[in-house]
Parts: sequence; structure tokens; C-alpha cells
Amino acid sequence: MAEYDYDLGVIGGGAAGLTVAAGASQLGVKTLLVEKESRLGGDCLHYGCVPSKTLIRTARVRHLMGRAQDFGLPAVDLLPVDYSQVGKRIAEVIDVIQVHDSVERFTSLGVDVQFGSASFKNNHIISLNGKAVSARTWVVATGSSPSVPSIKGLNDVPYLTNLDIFSLPELPSSLIVLGGGPIAVEMAQSFQRLGTKVTVVQRSNQILSKEDEDMARFVMEGMIADGVDFILGSKIEEVRQTEGGIEVVLNESGEQKIVRGSKLLVAMGRDSNTKGLNLEEIGVVLNQGAVEVDSRMRTAVSNIYAAGDVIGKYRFTHAAGYEGGIVVTNAVFRLPRKADYTWLPWCTYTDPELASVGINEKSAKASGIQYETVVEEFSTSDRALAEGEAKGRIKLLLNKKGKPLGCQIAAVHAGELLGEWVAAVNGKVALATLAGAIHPYPTLSEMNKKVAGKLLGEKIFSEKVRKILRLLFSYRG
Ligand SMILES: Cc1cc2nc3c(=O)[nH]c(=O)nc-3n(C[C@H](O)[C@H](O)[C@H](O)COP(=O)(O)OP(=O)(O)OC[C@H]3O[C@@H](n4cnc5c(N)ncnc54)[C@H](O)[C@@H]3O)c2cc1C
Repeated sequence: MAEYDYDLGVIGGGAAGLTVAAGASQLGVKTLLVEKESRLGGDCLHYGCVPSKTLIRTARVRHLMGRAQDFGLPAVDLLPVDYSQVGKRIAEVIDVIQVHDSVERFTSLGVDVQFGSASFKNNHIISLNGKAVSARTWVVATGSSPSVPSIKGLNDVPYLTNLDIFSLPELPSSLIVLGGGPIAVEMAQSFQRLGTKVTVVQRSNQILSKEDEDMARFVMEGMIADGVDFILGSKIEEVRQTEGGIEVVLNESGEQKIVRGSKLLVAMGRDSNTKGLNLEEIGVVLNQGAVEVDSRMRTAVSNIYAAGDVIGKYRFTHAAGYEGGIVVTNAVFRLPRKADYTWLPWCTYTDPELASVGINEKSAKASGIQYETVVEEFSTSDRALAEGEAKGRIKLLLNKKGKPLGCQIAAVHAGELLGEWVAAVNGKVALATLAGAIHPYPTLSEMNKKVAGKLLGEKIFSEKVRKILRLLFSYRG
């Protein structure tokens, strides 16, 4: 039998790779973890979730200070933001979390951590820092990078991406954001709230284009109220550098329009990190640049798995972690566990947040699925009113039998509120159970109970029931 240096080799020390490495090594598997940067944690910790959510919080505090009078307080004079101080706070939060993703922690779990850029020589051997390293099984978890589309002039101008936006020396006076996805809108709102004049330029006619239009509108209206400008449905013709910054030339239904800003943020999607790995040369199949896997995370080469952003399915940290778990079950336990994304939730952390689990109206229509909706507005929530955050909606999609197909929430703390639906749909909890469960008053979570009980309530308080009660108990009505 062939001898390998390791039972399992993991390439990439982000959410997916760390999950696999921690799981395998704790099961006694001789594990190697290779990371090309000088620290573990990947995009989520250093250039993604953690810095963005920290920035969002800072921006929200400033925004609430600006709303002081809405809460009966004296107006606050908002001083200009020193972005280096914001960056300092971001770095501090990363430092605290880094301990959890440290080399010391993974070494103590039994993982051999090595730094360097890996490249396959064959399906068992990689080249790492000039040396050949072998493993019985490999896992590609190399993540993704900001996609930079071929737009005339774009490569000749300085632009920002998620890699540098969190560590700028100073706050830009104005910012053009190319893209209308989650990263684009989260950053756009945050910078606007910190004092930058932000313009979002988006090709399609809707921001957050995977979401239902009515739900995405809450986010857009919230951002417009903050002062963000939107240019939707326009084609970018050219990007140019000027003395004062950047010019983006747009084509709006045949008419040329120019948008100017001091800085440009490109947030137009992600590309899988596969360059230099030699994957296709050893037989791994790529599909539009992403590593193709089956539902057990196996690539076309039987001893090579892939997980996380690099497979291009759902680019979220929790999806990467879930897929990492699927790899461990298949590659270590040798059990045929398949990934099931039916109830994969996500959230965009704007104000209001937009969170979703299961299918929405857009995807139901696209798949020809019959559904009905139940909707509740947050303007009917006592707690939302008390908080001064009463804008939003919760929407439930039900099948013919009244079982939930999906739930979307556009509201303050929507991501937290969604947790109850995540548990309910995974646990197959009946709507009547959720509607009958006592929720603390006054909480936003009462909206979950309210929407779950809405159809039931309509049935109970129907004319038919009234008639029966009149008959039975001689009520006069
Ligand atoms: C601004 C922003 C905000 C985000 N916010 C959220 C959020 O709120 N919630 C959420 O769920 N997701 C969020 N995401 C997405 C999330 O960051 C990713 O889904 C997650 O990091 C994917 O994990 P991963 O392990 O697949 O990849 P990564 O975390 O990118 O890790 C891959 C690692 O592989 C390394 N690598 C690459 N090539 C090689 C090589 N050849 N050899 C060795 N190492 C290599 C990289 O250096 C990297 O450390 C956000 C992303 C961005 C950009």
C-alpha cells in the first residue's frame, strides 16, 4: 500500500478548511493544513464578515447619534469621522477572534499547519515551498476573490475591493460602488452613514437581485433615507481617472451619464480561487471557474474534495462550514452524506436587515412551485414602534397544505429573528405550534408568532365559525 506523508491535506485556512482540519485531526487523522497568507482565518475573518459587521456597527452607532431627536434627545453635532480609528476598532475585533483561528489552537488539535502556496503535481502530491508533500486525500478550500469584470478603463484606475476597504487611511469624501449585491449594499450604507457621499451603480433594476422585489425595496428605501444615491438599470461604458478622483461613464437607455467620486469600490461578484493549483491538469473539473463537486463534495478526482467559496454554490461562511462537515463525514468516516441546501439561510446586514430561509416568491415562480403568502408589517409590532424601527415586513411562503416553503424578513435584527424559522423548518414544527407558543412581550419575535398564526386566525374568526357558534350557543351576534 502506498505511504503518504498525511492521511488528509487541506488547502486553505478559511471557514471551510478550518472546519475540515479541526474535525479530521480531532478524530485522529494525520492532517496537514496549508495556507498561503501568513495567518489563518481566511476572508471571513480578515476581509469579509468580521470587518464588515464591525464597520456596520460603528456606522449604525453614528447613524443613531444623528437620530437623537427622534428619541426625544437633544440633537448631536456629528463630527467628521477619523477612519483610522474605525480601522483600529476593526483590527481589534479581528485580533480577538484570531485567537480562535490561531496556529497554536490548530496545532494543539493535532493539525500540522504550514504556510505557502500549494500547487498539485498529481492527485496525491502537492508542491509546497519547493518541496513535494503527499496525502491520501486532499481538500481544496481556497475560497474566492473579488471579481473584476472587463470594463473599459477599469484596470487603469485605482479601485478598492473588500481587501482594502476596511483599512483605508482616511474616509473617502465620496464613493462610487459598482454592484448591488450584499457586499456592495452593506458597504454603501456604512460609508454613507460615516459621512461619505455614496452612489450605487447597478446593472439590473433591483438591488439584491436574488431577493423578492418588495423585500429588497425596504433595504433600498432605508438606504435612500440615509442619503445613498442609486443608479439602477444602467450599463457601465467606461471608467476614467480624473484630477479629483474617478469618473464612471454610464449608458442609461441610450443616454450617456457621468458619475463622479473620489474613490471607487468594485463589488461585482466573486471568482473562485483556483489559479496556480493545477487542478484541471490533474483531472479536477471546473465549471465557470468554480470547482465542480457532487453532493458529497467530491470532485472529478476520487481522492480530492472541495468545499466553501471555491465551489461557487453559496458563498457564505456558514455554507463553507456546513460543506466542511460534509467532507469530514465522507472523507474521514466514509459515510455517504449528501449536502442539502433546502434550508440554507442567509442575511444581508443592512438597516433594515434582509434575512431569508427556504424559497422566496422569485425562486418559487422560477421553479413553477404553487404557493401562497402570509405577510405582517413591523408597523404593527409594539416593540418595533418602541425601538423607533417600525419599518419592515415578514413574509411566509406556504404550500397548498399550509406547510412553510420559506420565510423572508426585512427588519431590524432580521438575521436574529430568522433563527426561530430556521429551527421551525428544520424541526418540521407545525405553524400552529409556533403560533401557540408563548413569546415574551414586547419582543420583535412576536412577529414570528403573529405571521405563523395569521391564516389560523382567519379560519378561527371566519363567518363559518361564527355561524356554528351562534347555532350551538344561541349567540345573537
Ligand atoms: C465583504 C464581505 C462580507 C461578507 N460577509 C459575510 C457574512 O456576513 N456572512 C457570511 O456568511 N459570509 C460573508 N461573506 C462570505 C464569507 O467571507 C465567505 O463565504 C467565506 O470566507 C468562505 O470561506 P472559505 O473557507 O471557502 O474561503 P476563505 O475564507 O476565503 O479561505 C480560503 C483560504 O485559502 C487560502 N488559499 C487560497 N489559495 C491558496 C493556495 N493555492 N494555497 C494555500 N492557500 C490558499 C486563502 O489565502 C484563504 O485564507 C462575506 C464576504 C465578503 C467579501
